[in-house]
Amino acid sequence: MLAFAGGGCFGATGNREDRAVSDVAGIGIGGIEVIALKDGQMQAQPPLFPDYDAEKAVRAAAQAGIAYDGKTVDISINAFVVRSGDAVVLVDAGSPPGFGEGTGAFGQALAQAGVAPGEVTHLAMTHLHIDHVGGLTDGAGRAVFDNAELISGEGDWRHFHSDEVYAAANSRARQSIDVSRRAVAPYANRRREVSGETGIAPGVSMVPLPGHTPGHCGVLIEDGDAQLLIWGDTIHAEAFQVAEPGWSVLFDADQAQARATRVRLFDRVATDGLMVTGPHVRFPGFSRLERAKTGYRLLHLD
Ligand SMILES: [Zn+2]
Repeated sequence: MLAFAGGGCFGATGNREDRAVSDVAGIGIGGIEVIALKDGQMQAQPPLFPDYDAEKAVRAAAQAGIAYDGKTVDISINAFVVRSGDAVVLVDAGSPPGFGEGTGAFGQALAQAGVAPGEVTHLAMTHLHIDHVGGLTDGAGRAVFDNAELISGEGDWRHFHSDEVYAAANSRARQSIDVSRRAVAPYANRRREVSGETGIAPGVSMVPLPGHTPGHCGVLIEDGDAQLLIWGDTIHAEAFQVAEPGWSVLFDADQAQARATRVRLFDRVATDGLMVTGPHVRFPGFSRLERAKTGYRLLHLD
């Protein structure tokens, strides 16, 4: 670990002004620097998980070593910066203002990491949900990252701009889509979509992991033998879904596909001993996945 400085913030759910200001944690993948940025923490409740079973949930959380009171479970929101050669790749951009009480520290974490917005060359978006695009624009709707190209997986832009998807959504989901649309709008003329595993910068590739959204991607970082997969929203609740990979979440656009992708990916990650982290893995998330009594367990490196 390089410059690990995340202590004192875990479990913090108060207003961001109350929190300690060390919300960054870095790691080297060969010669590539990866810095986790903590946006904050949100809470999820059982109805988010259609396959929820109270007994299994308690067992899963205990195996994961995560506190669960039977009502709500904490979920981290993270983004990442990857410095490789001349490229400064931002992987996701946190949640928007007003998203939750314990969220919204993305911009502050980016500054702590010593990254000026103008330096960012690539915006590698795992997908375009609200808690991943929130920091792309300022309060006036202007682009924060003037020199960066927005890159997302094939089908995501269309999905988030689809009249059909919008018409089928409830009012809360529509509000969320509205925020996503506003956040990505200034990048409409400097964006591209990728299909299949696609290199976007030296040692940095987008890897399709469809299901959560049509274009949902992971970002694979590799230099020599060193590898890290930022697996996007493969899981939301580490407390439940690592032990129970069959559990999808309500806002997986295609729950069955998301489940199949997660089950396949977990097997590969555990078999290969691949280092992973993600936007919703307990900050900073750098970990390895091992098979456990029930499903899997994440072994955090911090
Ligand atoms: Zn998310």
